[in-house]
This record gives sequence, C-alpha cells and structure tokens, in this order.
Amino acid sequence: MPSYTAPLDDMLFLFEKLRDNKNYNELEKYNEVNLDLVKDILEEAAKINQNLLLPLALAGDENPAKLENGVVRTPPGYKEAYQKYIEDGWISLSCDPKYGGQGMPKTVSAFFDEMLSSTSLSFKLYSELTIGAYNCLLHHASDETKDKYLPKMVEGKWSGTMCLTEPVCGTDLGMLKTKAVEQADGTFKISGQKIFITSGDHDLTENIVHLVIARASDSPPGTKGISLFLVPKFIVNEDGSIGARNGISTGSVEHKMGIKGSATCVLNFDEATGYLIGTKNKGLNQMFTMMNLERILVGIQGLGISEIAYQNSLTYAKERKQGKTNNTKSTNGADFIIEHADIRKSLLNMKSIIEGERALCFWLSQQTEVSLNHPDEQVKQEASDYVSLMTPVVKSLFTDLAMEITSDAMQIHGGYGFTKDQGIEQLYRDNRITPIYEGTNSVQAADLVFRKLSNKNGNIIKKFLEMVKSECDSKNEKVRSYSKELNYYLDILHKFTGWIEDKTKIEKDDVSAAANDYLKTLGYVSIGYSWIKILEVSFSDYETNKEFYEDKINTAKFYFDKVLPRAEFHYKSAISGSSNIMNFKFN
Ligand SMILES: Cc1cc2nc3c(=O)[nH]c(=O)nc-3n(C[C@H](O)[C@H](O)[C@H](O)COP(=O)(O)OP(=O)(O)OC[C@H]3O[C@@H](n4cnc5c(N)ncnc54)[C@H](O)[C@@H]3O)c2cc1C
Repeated sequence: MPSYTAPLDDMLFLFEKLRDNKNYNELEKYNEVNLDLVKDILEEAAKINQNLLLPLALAGDENPAKLENGVVRTPPGYKEAYQKYIEDGWISLSCDPKYGGQGMPKTVSAFFDEMLSSTSLSFKLYSELTIGAYNCLLHHASDETKDKYLPKMVEGKWSGTMCLTEPVCGTDLGMLKTKAVEQADGTFKISGQKIFITSGDHDLTENIVHLVIARASDSPPGTKGISLFLVPKFIVNEDGSIGARNGISTGSVEHKMGIKGSATCVLNFDEATGYLIGTKNKGLNQMFTMMNLERILVGIQGLGISEIAYQNSLTYAKERKQGKTNNTKSTNGADFIIEHADIRKSLLNMKSIIEGERALCFWLSQQTEVSLNHPDEQVKQEASDYVSLMTPVVKSLFTDLAMEITSDAMQIHGGYGFTKDQGIEQLYRDNRITPIYEGTNSVQAADLVFRKLSNKNGNIIKKFLEMVKSECDSKNEKVRSYSKELNYYLDILHKFTGWIEDKTKIEKDDVSAAANDYLKTLGYVSIGYSWIKILEVSFSDYETNKEFYEDKINTAKFYFDKVLPRAEFHYKSAISGSSNIMNFKFN
C-alpha cells in the first residue's frame, strides 16, 4: 500500500505567503480565517487522511462496491469511516453556516480535497457529488427546497448525485431521452434510464438527492429543452422526515478498471416523483453550476493522485539500489537509483508540476471566492471570467499530467510498479477516469477555444495575459530572469491566441485539431505564472527559511528549463493545421 504524508509545509506556505491578493483580501467574510486556524484544520485533516482514509483505497480496490438483492454495498470499512468523516464535519468544510456548514473558504477546502484525492478517491466521490449538488441547489432552488434538503446534505446524512448520462448520450446531452411529465400538483413524473451515475446508490446515507436532467413533454428538442429536477430516493415528508420509496431502482453497478470502491450505477427512473429546480428548459445552465465546480475538483483529483505517486516514487528511489552512475562512489554493489540522472529528472518533473499546479489551484480558489463574494460587481465579473477560463485548463491539464506522473511513478518502481505489491498500478488505474468524466478532456479543450476565450464582457484571454504580464514584471533582479523567460512563452501564447481567433472565422477544423494543444500551452504558461509568484517570495524571504526556499528556487529552475518549453512544442504542432488529418483516408 502506498504511504502518504500530507504536504502541509507547501499548503501553509501558499496560504501564508501567496495570500496577498488585493481583491481576495477585501472579502470581509474571511477576515477571521487566519494562519493558526488553517494550520489547526490542516493538521487534523492530515491525521484523518493518513490514518483512517488511506487504507480505504486498497479495501475498495480489493472489494469493489456491489449490488446485492437490490441494495448497493460499499467496501468494508467505508461505513465506519464515513460516520467519523461526517461527525467531524469534513464534508461541510466550505458550506454555508446558515445550513450547518463550517464556512471555510475554498482556498482551505481545496487543500482538503487534494489530501482526500491522494488517500482514497473512491471514498471521496461519495461526498464530492453531495457538495456539488448542494452548490447547485444553493444557487438555483427555492428557499423552501433549500431549507428542506440542504441541512441534511451538509450534515452528510443525505448524499447527492448528478444524473446526466444516458446510454445514447454522454458528451451530447441534447440527445437525452428521459421524460418529465407534469402533474396536477406541480410535481413531475420522471421516467428513463441514467447510466454511469457516481454514488447512484449505496449504504452510507439515509437518503440520496438525485439531480436529474430530463425533457418535459412540451419542451423543444436539443439542449434548449432540458430541465433540472430534484428526485429523492425516498420522498421527504412536509416535516422533513423520510417517507415512501420513490420510483428509482438500481439496474447494476459497473465493473471498472479503477475507482472500484465508488459505486457507478445504472439507475432506472419509473415515474419517479421529481421537483423542478429553477426555470423550465434552463436545466443545463443550472447543471453547469455543479459541473463547473466538479471540473475543478476533478483537476484537484489529478493533483492529489500525482502527489501520492511522487511521494512513493521518491521513497522508493532512495531505497532501491541498481547499477552504477557515471560518477559512482560505490566501490562494490550498486548506487541508489535516485543517483541516476534519468530518475532524478523524472522526480523533478513530477515535483515541479505538482507544486506549480498547487499554487495555480490556490490562485483559482481565491478567484472563485472573489467571483462569489466581492462587493464590487466589476471585480466579481472579472474573477468569474478568470475562473471560467481556467476551469477546463485545470480539469484537463492536471488530469493528463497525472497520467504522465502515475505512469512515470510505475516506471521508477520498475517491475514492482506493474505488480500489485506497491499499490502504484492502482494509482494509474484510479486516475484513468479523470480525463474522461465531467466532460472528456477533448471536450474541455473545445469548450476553451470556442467559448471561453471571449464572452459578452470582452476578451477574457487578453485580460488574463495582460494581468499575468503585469504581475510578472518583478522588481527583483533574480526573479526578472525567470519573468523574461515567461514573457517569451507569453508571446507564443499571444500569437497562438491570434491564430485561433483567425482560424475560428475561416477553418474551424484547424481550431478543433489545435484545441488540446492550445489548452496545454495556456496551462503550462499559467503554471509558470504561479512559479513566478513562488519565486518572488522565495528570493525576498530567502534568509528566513533557506532550505525551503532553496528547494523552491531549484524546482522552479527545473520547471522553466525542462517543462515550460513544452508550450512551444504544442504551438508548433498546432499551427501545421488540420487538412492532412481531415483528408486522411482510414481504411
Ligand atoms: C466511472 C464513471 C463515473 C461517471 N460519473 C458520472 C456521473 O456521476 N454522472 C453522469 O451524468 N455521468 C457520469 N459519467 C459519465 C461520463 O461523464 C461520460 O462517460 C463522459 O462525459 C463521456 O461520455 P461518453 O462515455 O458517452 O463518451 P462519448 O460522448 O461517446 O465520447 C466518446 C469519445 O468521443 C469524443 N467526443 C465526443 N464528442 C466530441 C466532440 N464534440 N468533439 C470532440 N470529441 C468528441 C470524446 O472526447 C471521447 O473521446 C461517469 C462515467 C464513468 C466511467
């Protein structure tokens, strides 16, 4: 089983030193969330993750969730761990105190999400979708519905799901077939089949609140006719108590390559009672509140899995002796594999990506809070635009890089990485879903190039590039050499953006074929931007913690020398266009 130590030093460094964001600091809501409080929370979070939740990963892999006599059973240990998890209030970390939440900012809950993704992604998914559903209801449901459902969800007694996918539609939700027939009392009868529903059924909670998209009888075809419904597993009585079983049954639980502890269900809705949420035919927009948050969380899943893969690779490389290096000091026997240049490079590749991603994620959490809570509408809108721009980047780049990192971790472990002994192959398998669900990474890239670069509020990418450029204009001589390098890649990104804008008008296939490359270029540059912020502190505060900052400076150097140049490769590959791709005759 892999071991895990929460990277508290790095998390607390970000919270303390990269907190200084003018707009974020203006949020009165979080005035009392100081370093001491966050340190206490993260130390407790580390304990529950390291001690209680980490063993659940293997338990879930060896004893997958299963359907028995119509009831879905979670793996051994999940029920007890879930009880402790909700009793300690971890599920409600960032929820509104009005509904029983802890009211912590997303900058803090994102650290917890990362830890939980490292220790047991399958276990995490049971509560992750609850918080997604909570957020969707918080934004779109009536006060009456909120009062009835949210406190139980925040308490963790009821869980949530997101029911979109059907046998005929995954990416293209406009094709959905699930029907909603309005009743005289204003409720709807929901009928149809949903597949691949995470935590669709299980034995951890008293009730499950399904958020289901369906088409009402009088709605138009396509995405314009989709509405959102709350469909509980058990009907909730007027007084909030649990009533009769609703018309929902579990058809099966999928057998999967990874995240086996998570119950991925086929759900059959047979005239189940549903309640319309928000406006009819606007269901997809409302569902996007949940999906956008989930997409960031899936990016964090990739980050968390990368972290545990890195930690175990580092330990193994320090323990395993094989071969001699060019400058071996060993007179008999072999050197530790950490002495080999290629292994060192692989470890640094992981470390520089992970720490850069964590810093970018911290910035994104700050922007999310500003977009939700800032008093100035313009500032709020700008932050919301940045979040919208960066959501597909974080979802796709972090999960794709987690595939690279878990694969490299397996490589460092050699044959022992491929066999089950060390648990490394499970990380690779568990991560493999992250580039697929919540909208595949290709679809994220298309979303970025066709919809996110500009909107009715203007040219978002231009604003973002200007902001990065001005913030990287450092007064510190030592940081300036890195900023200069980042500027080179900012210019490439600028040219790439112009190319995308031109091609969008004349040759859309060129843009579609370039979308993934564009997302990666933007992602690598954004991580570079995060490293500049880290470097700024590392050079200015160097004397206060030499060892820590020396480590940061050298890791940043690796990122700039060896990782960031990938941005240029993606640009060059993309601008060769798509005619060969589109005209190629597959036999
Ligand atoms: C373990 C697991 C858990 C899941 N959890 C949930 C859940 O809780 N709720 C839920 O509703 N769904 C869930 N899903 C479904 C998941 O979101 C979908 O599988 C995913 O969105 C892709 O849909 P699909 O499988 O139908 O693939 P398809 O849409 O058929 O896509 C197949 C391929 O075609 C590509 N493609 C499709 N359209 C385009 C396009 N326009 N441009 C470029 N490429 C395109 C895709 O990128 C992909 O590579 C889950 C799936 C799994 C496996």
